[in-house]
Amino acid sequence: MAWTDLPGIGTILDLLCPPRCVFCHDDVETPARGEAVACDTCVARLSRDVPRCTACGEPLPASGGCLRCRGRRPVWDGLAVLAPYADDVRDAVLRAKRPAGEGVAAGLASLLVRKHRAVFDGWRIDTVVPVPMHWLRRVSRGTSAAHEIARGVAAGLGLPCRRAVRRTRNTRMQNELPFEDRHANLHGAFRPAARLAGSRVLLVDDVTTTGSTLAGCREVLVEAGATAVYAAVVARADRAATIDSES
Ligand SMILES: [Zn+2]
Ligand SMILES: [Zn+2]
Repeated sequence: MAWTDLPGIGTILDLLCPPRCVFCHDDVETPARGEAVACDTCVARLSRDVPRCTACGEPLPASGGCLRCRGRRPVWDGLAVLAPYADDVRDAVLRAKRPAGEGVAAGLASLLVRKHRAVFDGWRIDTVVPVPMHWLRRVSRGTSAAHEIARGVAAGLGLPCRRAVRRTRNTRMQNELPFEDRHANLHGAFRPAARLAGSRVLLVDDVTTTGSTLAGCREVLVEAGATAVYAAVVARADRAATIDSES
């Protein structure tokens, strides 16, 4: 038995050093068990969003139906978004990408699960898969935000997290390229790293803009046998915004 399992130790620790919000470091009175600690203010400011199409992630027009999806098949079976890539959410994503950003990544994952638990349950996912980072980039950065967020989402949903896609080329950063070149930049960049026969997969990334990265990974997951591929991202950047984050 680990010392942290001893009855009462957690309570004593809470009294000595009260839990703090991973985003703003304020004391939090009663964090939910097993979740990354976030204060109510941060939950509200980081989860705020417009209504979105759950198939493609675009904001829905006031009239209802998604104009982007009309008449064509969406690239994924569904896309869950926490918030637009701006302001506080942008700051949190950038913190999650820095070394020692794991706490913030776990916090963002718990916000995603809180907001979309019913959607995820409806999708009947059985495996969570992070969008991979090339190992060279991972070594130089010391962390992969997508992997940390995927681990947090998997833990929140009680599902396994598997690194089922590998990045075989250290591609140029998507945000350095014009939109029309992004799909070609990723051609052949991903390979399956696990068998997923019959799996319903939730692909997780920190930010998406054009969706090329998610689409490239989806292709590989289907090749590996996945029967459904859904996606979840912390932030959706609109194409006009300045992007410094999409990998
Ligand atoms: Zn806070
Ligand atoms: Zn749509």
